[in-house]
Amino acid sequence: MSGRVIIVVLGKQGAGKGTQCKRLAQALAIPHVSTGDILRAAVRDKTPLGLEVEGILAAGGLVNDELVGRLVRERFTEDDALGGALLDGYPRNAAQAALLEEILGDDGIKLVLSLDVSSELVAERLSARRVCQECGAIYRDSDIEAISGTCANCGGDVVQRADDQPEAILKRLATYERDTAPLLTFYDDRGLLVHVDGDGELDDVTAAINAVLSERGLA
Ligand code: AMP
Repeated sequence: MSGRVIIVVLGKQGAGKGTQCKRLAQALAIPHVSTGDILRAAVRDKTPLGLEVEGILAAGGLVNDELVGRLVRERFTEDDALGGALLDGYPRNAAQAALLEEILGDDGIKLVLSLDVSSELVAERLSARRVCQECGAIYRDSDIEAISGTCANCGGDVVQRADDQPEAILKRLATYERDTAPLLTFYDDRGLLVHVDGDGELDDVTAAINAVLSERGLA
């Protein structure tokens, strides 16, 4: 397993993790592993897992650590993740961070990126966000007319996520501050953390991330 490039991307919901991870995954030829995407696909496909977690996702709550840990562990056994992965939405609390160290063993995390944006900006972005139910492509509500509610990539339906409603957004931001933000110190203490300003234009944020990857010899 040595030489695996595991990069964790932290940041509030709406910080741009999904968009930047999709770009990075392509550039680094490693998969974008988003626990939120995995869970939403299960909900959409009405699998037993999906039926179990549907209500939790819609309310903006967190799925239990053991269940999400199992999903991540399984995902890492797939062939495309042998060279590494970009983790988006995991870990989300101290218990998940500890479990991730156990899952990865010696072949640990190479870098933790924190995409920093203000809570005001993310609340604004999240309420304007629309996603393709099929492929997860991300749009803004202002794009919807241009694409007639149909994904330009795959033709799937473009909808608002249940957890992008105002009440669920507030709950998710509070959970981030309480449970996820402490991971910044956890990874900083391990010398793994780099902050990137996520407030700028998409391309500027991508360029800033690429600069970090180069500095760390990962690109
Ligand atoms: P995300 O797309 O990362 O915002 O995740 C969407 C939803 O999936 C979250 O609000 C949680 O309900 C659930 N979820 C995703 N990742 C995790 C995780 N690591 N632990 C617990 N729940 C998660």
